[in-house]
Amino acid sequence: RPPPLYVGRFAPSPTGPLHAGSLVAALASWLDARAHGGRWLVRIEDVDTPRCVPGAEAEILSQLDQLGLRPDAPPLRQSERGALYQAALDRLQQDGMAYPCVCTRQQIVAANSARGLLPSRHAELVYPGTCRPENGGLHDRRARSWRLHLPAAALVDWNDRRLGAQRQAVDRAVGDFVLRRADGLWAYQLAVVVDDAAQGVTHVVRGEDLADNTARQILLQRALGLPTPRYLHTPLVRAADGEKLSKQHGAPALHLSDPAATLATAGAVLGLTVPRDRSVRAWLDRAILAWRAAHAAPD
Ligand code: GLU
Repeated sequence: RPPPLYVGRFAPSPTGPLHAGSLVAALASWLDARAHGGRWLVRIEDVDTPRCVPGAEAEILSQLDQLGLRPDAPPLRQSERGALYQAALDRLQQDGMAYPCVCTRQQIVAANSARGLLPSRHAELVYPGTCRPENGGLHDRRARSWRLHLPAAALVDWNDRRLGAQRQAVDRAVGDFVLRRADGLWAYQLAVVVDDAAQGVTHVVRGEDLADNTARQILLQRALGLPTPRYLHTPLVRAADGEKLSKQHGAPALHLSDPAATLATAGAVLGLTVPRDRSVRAWLDRAILAWRAAHAAPD
């Protein structure tokens, strides 16, 4: 039997309940899957355990359920998938594409300032490659983290279904990025790439704040011999001060007393003019048609 033509996913981190911003990504990924007649999965991205909030997973799943966004399979939890991430790291290491690193954040900050790359609030630190094997490796010191050894061609061109042509020179933007952190936790980049492939995800629909991870994820897919899904990054909901709405930034809780109105608000961010309806089901059915007209065309 041929693999499914469309598998989508919503991959929340359980750091708090859904808010107006994360609902937009959830709704868009659900609508895109339904508009394509595809499968829709939910994956709980709880690798960064110190940031996880007890009860948040159950709350997110309950919010999705009340909004009529129901996954086609029981949700996966990244905290239970360490063996898969380890296997991917082992494979990269065997292929000479991952190496251990002893550098502290402070040392990387110092190296960045020495090169005139002053760390700003929004820019990432660029790893200067100090611990690369060809630069002498660890010199018998204990590994703190593991990094991807970027290929010589680290310029990635990719296409976003909403944002259009994208390009990032990953070597200049971030350098050899972390796969396993100094605290022993798996890095988001590795976990997301391994899981998207393991779950057969063909279409990633997520918030625009994640767009600049995509080039890194594509390089990692290539290093692991995995397919690259299609990407669509959804508009962000901004707080009154223009900052991205986030759990950290005091996003108000979603109103679930009138779920169809809450959905209509999220739909408006996506450019869907589907007025609120009496029932969630009726609103969602009309939104699928509107989404299909706008997005599901010939891709
Ligand atoms: N877990 C990530 C987040 O909540 C999303 C990851 C993804 O969609 O690729 O921000």
